[in-house]
Amino acid sequence: MKLTDISYARAVMEKHGISPQKRFGQNFLISENVVSRIADAAGSGESELGIIEIGPGIGTLTQKLAERYRKVVAIEIDTSLLPVLADTLSDYENVKIISGDAMKTDFEILVREEFGDMRVAVCANLPYYITSPVIMRLLETNGLFESVTVMIQKEVADRLASKPGTAEYGAITASSSYYAEIEKIFNVSPANFIPPPKVTSSVIRMNVHKTPPVSCKNEENLFRVIRGAFAKRRKTLSNSLSGETSKHTKAEIEAVLVSLGYRADVRGETLGLSDFAKISDALEL
Ligand code: SAM
Repeated sequence: MKLTDISYARAVMEKHGISPQKRFGQNFLISENVVSRIADAAGSGESELGIIEIGPGIGTLTQKLAERYRKVVAIEIDTSLLPVLADTLSDYENVKIISGDAMKTDFEILVREEFGDMRVAVCANLPYYITSPVIMRLLETNGLFESVTVMIQKEVADRLASKPGTAEYGAITASSSYYAEIEKIFNVSPANFIPPPKVTSSVIRMNVHKTPPVSCKNEENLFRVIRGAFAKRRKTLSNSLSGETSKHTKAEIEAVLVSLGYRADVRGETLGLSDFAKISDALEL
């Protein structure tokens, strides 16, 4: 029996006296096809990879990852799922479950202790309530992972994969493009989960850059410029980056923009990562 079989998944939950918890963003996958495709996308079938899974739930995706890859370490916040996982993963010797919060995990230590020299990728059906902060945390580990394959809300996936000048483009798009190239893989309808979420999901793969695609003098300043640029949407960049908390007046910022070849009234949402890097090098925020 497979955990993607809805009656079997229900029977396992009933046996352990649990039900999906909204507060932990629990929507469990019940589609064999979707689970297989996510597991395949995580490492393109490279069996020597190590995998970190965030939120194994009742172990559905974890089983598939363990069948395809060398070792799987899964971090689960909900302690009531630990006995379920001990049960559903009892036949898998290459899986380790860690009880904890992925928002507090030190991934560098985890990789060093659990994977040694192995190349490591992340794979997860992410809980929706922490999608963006988890993604940024994973990407900020600076090349620790080969790739990060996650299922997230379609709306967030569209934002991550969007281009400058579109309605979806935002600070998270520009910031994440510093760390990875983002590939949208497929959409998943609510019917593939129990309980069904309210929105459509998408699987994306983030291919982590070995070195950043742009050079800049001060990374922290680059992210300050990006955050500032989108803090007040539909305002000009000089308006967004000036103001009470800024070191610079609007006129000073306009002068810098013009000296770099931009219009004084350029808007942040039309600029790409290389533009932000150029501006960051000329403007300390
Ligand atoms: N992987 C399973 C599947 O696909 O059926 C479950 C996915 S469910 C959308 C999200 C999982 O993440 C749940 O098991 C939930 O308890 C767990 N979770 C939520 N917040 C977490 C956190 N901060 N750290 C680790 N796991 C978390």
